[in-house]
Amino acid sequence: MAAWVEGRVIERIEWTPTLFSLRVAAELAPYKAGQFTKLALQRGEQRVQRAYSFVNPPTTPYHEFYLVKIPDGELTPSLGALQPGDSLLVQSQATGFLTLDELPAGRDLWLLSTGTAIGPFLAMLAEGEAFRRFENLVLVHGVRKGEELTYQALITSLVEQHGPRFRYVPFVSREAWPGAMEGRIPAAIDAGSLQERVGMAFSAEHSQVMICGNPAMVKETQQSLLALGLAKNLRRAPGNISMENYW
Ligand SMILES: Cc1cc2nc3c(=O)[nH]c(=O)nc-3n(C[C@H](O)[C@H](O)[C@H](O)COP(=O)(O)OP(=O)(O)OC[C@H]3O[C@@H](n4cnc5c(N)ncnc54)[C@H](O)[C@@H]3O)c2cc1C
Repeated sequence: MAAWVEGRVIERIEWTPTLFSLRVAAELAPYKAGQFTKLALQRGEQRVQRAYSFVNPPTTPYHEFYLVKIPDGELTPSLGALQPGDSLLVQSQATGFLTLDELPAGRDLWLLSTGTAIGPFLAMLAEGEAFRRFENLVLVHGVRKGEELTYQALITSLVEQHGPRFRYVPFVSREAWPGAMEGRIPAAIDAGSLQERVGMAFSAEHSQVMICGNPAMVKETQQSLLALGLAKNLRRAPGNISMENYW
């Protein structure tokens, strides 16, 4: 049985009317960058729970979660109403295999995300191990509107710290946005425009690719990469592509 502990919101970050982050104080078992736990609220006899990835590297004294309020969602409107000092339930044991220790060696690390699924990649990048293991790192973030390109201060500090080894590529699908690519990630891989922007090809020899977020994006991106000769990364058959669906 999973153990639940009480957590306390210590800070909220408002990004947009629907995007927010919660910093939570809670006594949790050790976890790895890229993993997720469950947050829950008690409603009478019922505990309403959902999975959320850690955005913070595991060494920080708090746990940070990046969420989108789903209109008519069962849990997120209530999580979105939590204020500093409010309590919630947190599963103490994290889980998940979207972690660096599941990846074979490689030269280039591509981190492809949509929406709030940039979170586990920010945890990995901030933690630093990804920069020790890979020569070139690319963070791709697909959103609908430019205002959803969040965590810019952290991303800018990574760019400043690591220089040309680290590239950040935002995608905005529903409006033109300065510096962002238009459209969707799999279409840009098929067209070669993402590779052109980064100045690097996908290759079975050198690339490790992690994909996280919207299941349609995850599936289509995987198909695009398979067509380029990359293979799924499985424990029994190491390859290039590791994935996590958010729903
Ligand atoms: C491994 C894992 C990690 C996750 N980590 C996060 C996270 O860090 N942040 C986060 O916001 N969500 C995350 N999710 C999704 C989260 O668990 C919930 O599904 C989400 O918060 C919706 O909960 P709800 O009860 O409000 O909506 P529900 O009533 O359960 O409605 C679910 C529907 O909401 C939509 N939806 C769910 N998640 C998202 C999303 N992230 N972006 C856009 N639409 C979505 C889908 O259409 C889905 O069918 C994760 C899911 C998994 C499986």
